[in-house]
Amino acid sequence: MKKDQKMWFKELDEGLRKLNVFFKIDEPLAPYTSIKVGGPCRRMIFPEKEEYLLAILKFLEEKEIPFFILGGGSKLLVSDEGFDGVVINLSKFRGIQIVKESKENIILEILAGTRINEIIGMGIKEGFGGIEFLGGIPATLGGAIKMNAGAFGNTISQLVKSIKIFKNRKIKTIEAKEDLWEYRKFKEDGIVISAELELKKMEKGKIINLLKKYLEKRKESQPLFEKTFGSVFKNPPSLYAGALIEACNLKGYQIGSAKISEKHANFIVNLGNAKASEILQLMKLVQEKVFLKFGIKLEPEVNFLGCSLQ
Ligand SMILES: Cc1cc2nc3c(=O)[nH]c(=O)nc-3n(C[C@H](O)[C@H](O)[C@H](O)COP(=O)(O)OP(=O)(O)OC[C@H]3O[C@@H](n4cnc5c(N)ncnc54)[C@H](O)[C@@H]3O)c2cc1C
Repeated sequence: MKKDQKMWFKELDEGLRKLNVFFKIDEPLAPYTSIKVGGPCRRMIFPEKEEYLLAILKFLEEKEIPFFILGGGSKLLVSDEGFDGVVINLSKFRGIQIVKESKENIILEILAGTRINEIIGMGIKEGFGGIEFLGGIPATLGGAIKMNAGAFGNTISQLVKSIKIFKNRKIKTIEAKEDLWEYRKFKEDGIVISAELELKKMEKGKIINLLKKYLEKRKESQPLFEKTFGSVFKNPPSLYAGALIEACNLKGYQIGSAKISEKHANFIVNLGNAKASEILQLMKLVQEKVFLKFGIKLEPEVNFLGCSLQ
């Protein structure tokens, strides 16, 4: 660590202690990801309140300290060496508030670190739904928005009314217009602080049935209970990455403890102590084989921290 960097960390730690914001030093990242892979980060900070989150972000940007926003860690591959910077873990930055409701609809303001499953759970209790298609995904709202998470022909973009973003050291609220979204991507840069979602008033029984239906479908086709980060590659236009990988006879192919799922070829499973380097090797191999056979370069859907496919 450079000398001035050491000073910033000292200043950061003192500031966090003053604000009473919980943080950890040299914290391994693997337990915070769904694939359970990755080395430590310098600091992991757990802000609970918006004012503290903003103060921390401003400080990190001003001092040019590298930082990363962590949601549910369910679309993330962290390098074995970890990340020489600060991870802002939003797991405590949670909350759902009703903004407006009519006979048919309800508008909720939801903090970015709130789990999708928590929103579904509140819907079952209070009688609103429409987001069950994402049930079972260990994602937060912020991560789902950043990735425009979707399944079974639906995407989160269809439910989002507005998004509060931190960008260039300022907060702005933007309308979630159609042209801001593309396949697995929210195009606007910045950190998602919260968002307004419009859901439908629904009967409890109907929500539970929908959730069950989607979860059954997932269980049939995905290794839902294994250590993965969901789909590894994006689907090329009008094609399925999984079908291309399967056609290269790669299902079950293994490097070290990283294996291409027998259930779904576009999932990589960590069998125990897989390393990020093994997963990257496997991803490169998949790209090469698919390119040789079909002339298509698969683009990764997973986000990288401290590593890359190059
Ligand atoms: C078993 C399983 C099934 C899955 N099924 C699906 C599926 O059906 N459809 C689908 O789309 N995905 C699926 N996924 C992948 C994953 O759940 C989604 O991509 C999800 O949107 C990631 O959210 P997260 O909170 O875990 O984000 P993370 O993995 O924590 O982060 C993902 C990216 O978003 C950024 N980010 C997170 N929060 C914020 C924020 N508040 N502001 C700015 N940037 C932020 C991170 O920096 C990172 O770049 C699945 C994953 C698993 C493990």
